[in-house]
Amino acid sequence: TRPLDGRVALVTGGSRGIGAAIALRLAADGAAVALTYQHGEDRAAQVVERITRDGGRAWAVRADSRDPEAVWASVAGTADRFGRLDILVNNAGVGLIGPFEGVSLADVDRVLQTNVRAPFLAAQAAAAHLADGGRIISIGSCMAERSAFPGGALYTTSKAALTGLTKALARELGPRGITVNLVHPGPIDTDMNPADGESAALQAGLTALGSYGRPSDVAATVAHLAGEGGRYVTGAAISVDGGFAV
Ligand code: NDP
Repeated sequence: TRPLDGRVALVTGGSRGIGAAIALRLAADGAAVALTYQHGEDRAAQVVERITRDGGRAWAVRADSRDPEAVWASVAGTADRFGRLDILVNNAGVGLIGPFEGVSLADVDRVLQTNVRAPFLAAQAAAAHLADGGRIISIGSCMAERSAFPGGALYTTSKAALTGLTKALARELGPRGITVNLVHPGPIDTDMNPADGESAALQAGLTALGSYGRPSDVAATVAHLAGEGGRYVTGAAISVDGGFAV
């Protein structure tokens, strides 16, 4: 038997990067996995294909996090398709690093709708389905723990908001045996933040380990929280950041 046999998980932004690694890991641990994407239909299909090839159950659904109807439909669709919902992973997110003065109103709306409103709405919709032992896990950022260089005002604001959501929901859902936690990745090699990118050396240098992490590093901690090991952890923030925040 595997740690998540019989469980159903929804991972937002599961087509690429950290979300794809989380989807693959939860599936390897036995969960049936739904994953959302915005544009990456092919990449999402590849993740589903990898999971089903290994004997797992998976489903990809296009759902723009900025569209509340799509967010609600992805949650309801997961519960419909797999008959229950045990684990919500709020992973889909957008980055924006640049001078504060240059941030437009459209930027503010886009980043807050994707990184804050969508996790809020998804958690609200998921709470209607989650049973005792349910899990809500959001992906924050090491930037919310340590604002190590200029240009992060909007992104850091969005990720720090997840601390409030996590703590408040831990209180609200605790009596139902549902845990709510936050994982703060450090620099992780993905399309959003490639390890050979312009600021990669700077970012790696800000970690204690002096290097980038892999999407699977974040997925391992999410899997721990999703499984029995996370039973008594709630309202917590766990850094998987190579020591960026220390
Ligand atoms: P990527 O840009 O590599 O992948 C983003 C994923 O989110 C894709 O699956 C993308 O789907 C999806 N997505 C983006 N916007 C939307 C949207 N509006 N609706 C639905 N899906 C969307 O990002 P990472 O894997 O690097 O990041 C994942 C999470 O981790 C984010 O929340 C990010 O802020 C956070 N993070 C990342 C760090 C890093 O160094 N990489 C560090 C700290 C935090 P599609 O393929 O369709 O575009």
